[in-house]
Amino acid sequence: MKSTTLISEKLLPICIAGEWRLGGGEVYESIYPATGEVVARLCAASLADVEEAIQRAHKAFLTSGWAKKLPHERATVLFRIAQLIRENAEELAQKQRLDNGKSIKETRALVASAAGTFQFFGAACETLEDSITPSRGDYVTMSVHEPMGVVAAITPWNSPIVSDAQKMAPALAAGCAIVLKPAEITPVLALELARICQAAGVPKGLISVLPGKGSVIGDAITKHPLVKRVSFTGGTSTGKHIARIAAEKMMPVSMELGGKSPTMVLEDADLDHAVAGVLYGIFSSSGQSCIAGSRLFVAEPIYDEFLSRLTAGARALRVGDPSQDTTQMGPLISSSHRNSVERYVELGVSEGASIRTGGSRLGNDRLLGKLSNGYFYEPTILEGLSNKARTAQEEIFGPVLVAMPFKDEATLIEEANDSVYALAAGIWSRDFKRAWKLGRAVQAGTVWINTYKQLSSSTPFGGWRDSGLGREKGRAGIFQYMEQKGMYWGTNEMPLPWANLS
Ligand code: NAD
Repeated sequence: MKSTTLISEKLLPICIAGEWRLGGGEVYESIYPATGEVVARLCAASLADVEEAIQRAHKAFLTSGWAKKLPHERATVLFRIAQLIRENAEELAQKQRLDNGKSIKETRALVASAAGTFQFFGAACETLEDSITPSRGDYVTMSVHEPMGVVAAITPWNSPIVSDAQKMAPALAAGCAIVLKPAEITPVLALELARICQAAGVPKGLISVLPGKGSVIGDAITKHPLVKRVSFTGGTSTGKHIARIAAEKMMPVSMELGGKSPTMVLEDADLDHAVAGVLYGIFSSSGQSCIAGSRLFVAEPIYDEFLSRLTAGARALRVGDPSQDTTQMGPLISSSHRNSVERYVELGVSEGASIRTGGSRLGNDRLLGKLSNGYFYEPTILEGLSNKARTAQEEIFGPVLVAMPFKDEATLIEEANDSVYALAAGIWSRDFKRAWKLGRAVQAGTVWINTYKQLSSSTPFGGWRDSGLGREKGRAGIFQYMEQKGMYWGTNEMPLPWANLS
């Protein structure tokens, strides 16, 4: 098996306002989830590192000239970042695989997506427009935008390079300095991105990457008075905690949080497409995706046939060595996360579920050599639960699908919307009018009709309710990192009348 190589033998330095040195905090390990081997070690940031990074970022924001550059000049640097990501794509994809265990096919797609994000925000940066608003007096009125200053990004472990790029690119395009805290267990790609940004010409001091514990480093960043916005992606309870701190500071936040997304298969669906889409929606990334289609509603008349085909598809998935091009599903991120997924399946059974397929760790008969130490779990389909069951309501973040039949559309809409989450939804139907109406009735930040888990930089992304606040992506994504300013430019020939001077 040729899957494991070290990312680095030496302790990895971290990036403190453009300076590369060992963090002042405790030693962290990046573990390859497919084998349990340590692939990189680094010292986390200390609280002193956080203070230094933010102070220097503030200074760089004021003095480096980045914020004052013309938009097309900043765009040129963003295009160069995209280019450098592409030139180093294979190395980045391999490192991402080792850092978080996704299949190489997926990590290649993540790297391509990160490059696309920088390219998109470069283009958005140079074409973004302020506006002249209709005047209501003797003045010209305008709406303009100014960069906020130092902003923070806090990201999770499931798609690190994508989450990091989604925040770094618009923040840099806006003219801000950025302090990034990656998940403690997957710090490597954030550091790689920072190196690339520097090599492309982002001024020193403007970017810091501060790995470490969320409750210590993330907390200190969030509370810092010079941090003017936090863009957070992660779990809902962490998001609510950060939002409470932000409320005290009167600081804007954006929150990309959890999900329990419904996929709805109507009786007129193209079943080949729907089976492929449902499998991809729940089992790609081993289900460790905020937008995983983890609640499946199938029209009663086709339920048995659909579930038979879906089960056959799930059993045929190639689960295993993430380094192989043919692998569809890698391991879960950690042993403790696999334990949590296992507990959810047990909970489902205790709530009355039957296991249609899966429900276990991958047996050693299917895993060779070092892979037998990896955190693999079978693609799992549970049946017989109601939408009210905890297993159908709580985010499992693993390869576990809860399948339920539905009788009529009114009940379907009610049940699909009966969740604290509202991140995404999928609809499979050949009837475009029905699909459109259902798509408008379902409450979710993103709705896919006859496709699933397709994402584009140009289309705003985010959640309702416990799935989040605000939107990322899209041209307007840059405005998250800017303050809006109304400007009035007087055109009156005479002094203002109040002083009565004329
Ligand atoms: P998490 O909330 O545990 O951690 C996310 C980040 O927050 C990490 O960097 C962590 O160190 C940091 N953090 C933790 N406590 C903190 C605190 N008190 N103050 C500041 N920062 C803190 O989430 P996770 O387990 O890393 O990721 C999985 C979750 O992320 C899932 O719920 C998933 O749905 C969600 N997610 C959402 C999206 C989206 O776009 N909506 C995308 C990916 C993942």
